[in-house]
Amino acid sequence: MNWARRWRDLKPWLAEQLLARRPVISCLLFSAAAIPMLLVFTGLQTFALLHPEARAFYHPDALMATQVLLVSVIVGLAGVSWYCWGRRKIDAACNWLPMLTVTPTVLMLIALAIAHGLKDTPVSVSVLTAILLARALFDFKTLKPSLVIGAGMVLANEALVAKGLVPYAPLLSGPVFSGDGLAWWWQIWCRVVLDFSLLSFSCMVFFLFSTLGQRRHELENLVRTDMLTGLANRRTFMTQLEIESHRHARSKRPFCLVMCDVDHFKKINDTWGHPAGDAVLVELGRILKSTTREQIDTAARIGGEEFAVLLPETGLDQAERVAQLMSSGVRSQIFVYEGKQFSVTQSVGIAQACEGDGDGAMRVADDNLYIAKRQGRDRIVASVAAAAAAASPEARVACGLK
Ligand code: GH3
Ligand code: MG
Ligand code: MG
Repeated sequence: MNWARRWRDLKPWLAEQLLARRPVISCLLFSAAAIPMLLVFTGLQTFALLHPEARAFYHPDALMATQVLLVSVIVGLAGVSWYCWGRRKIDAACNWLPMLTVTPTVLMLIALAIAHGLKDTPVSVSVLTAILLARALFDFKTLKPSLVIGAGMVLANEALVAKGLVPYAPLLSGPVFSGDGLAWWWQIWCRVVLDFSLLSFSCMVFFLFSTLGQRRHELENLVRTDMLTGLANRRTFMTQLEIESHRHARSKRPFCLVMCDVDHFKKINDTWGHPAGDAVLVELGRILKSTTREQIDTAARIGGEEFAVLLPETGLDQAERVAQLMSSGVRSQIFVYEGKQFSVTQSVGIAQACEGDGDGAMRVADDNLYIAKRQGRDRIVASVAAAAAAASPEARVACGLK
């Protein structure tokens, strides 16, 4: 597989993992992000240990102790990664693992921030990045111990520093910002730590927001769509009907409502089974979609085996022609189930809306549908929704009635 394709596939995969929140994968991702972050600090401190001039900025014993702690956390996270990698394909519960992964990392970073001087080093950005990452990958319960202990450490440090019991920036021989120009070592250190932290922080925020936007879009589609047929659902249809009614009230251009109901659908379910019934509905959805105008008409499944189509800027004659196309498409469709063939028909009620009264048109289309059923099914009954029109002569003219 080429690398460009792997990279393209990585984003949806990461988004999926973020939602699935499998402990093993989340721990693996957290370790993969935290290890480089901690390695940056270890690398800088190793350099300081080896370089006498840089070492002078630290208390050597504290530097050594911090280094040992950092290496221990990195080794711990490497162990977690190794453990999780071996279990990445099995759905192991591992409920204890996330806390064991997150807590030492976050606390190590908070300790580093305190050790370097809480207020004037960029380590706090690394702390923020780790907390954000942990919250994106795990639930709040996992993060809680780190936050409680971390907040305790910060508050205790503030109090002790204020009382003069503990020096500010206890790892260092003098604070990073001492009022003079920044020492050469701190210029390098601040740049590396700040750049790295900000880069990872920005990547994460961008990724989270883009995933969130994508999920919102998917959810909105899910709410608007009928799962079985992929057509609009009843809610979307009613919203569209309201919009069209308002438009019609202003423009006075005709619009029509077509209601379709499969004939004797219960018998199909009873004879061929529910899955065969579902297959019929899917096919009807496809026929309705293919006979209507994309982006203009709204075809929806508004009930079990009931469909409705909204035809903007369409008169009654045109609407009848569209319905005839639909009905003949349905009638001529041969379904094959377990080697046997069958076909279905539908009854249709059409109403042309008047005076922007979409609900009135819906009622009339429904009445017409039941007239079609009573008259023997497999037929179309159409009329202008004249109830509103009957109210005034102007309305009758607007609706095209004599
Ligand atoms: P009519 O010609 O008078 O419309 O008769 P009908 O049998 O089509 O109407 P009825 O209302 O008696 O039955 C509708 C049936 O549609 C009953 C119900 O089990 C079935 N149904 C509703 N939703 C679904 C669905 O999603 N899938 C399937 N397979 N059947 C469904
Ligand atoms: Mg029916
Ligand atoms: Mg029905």
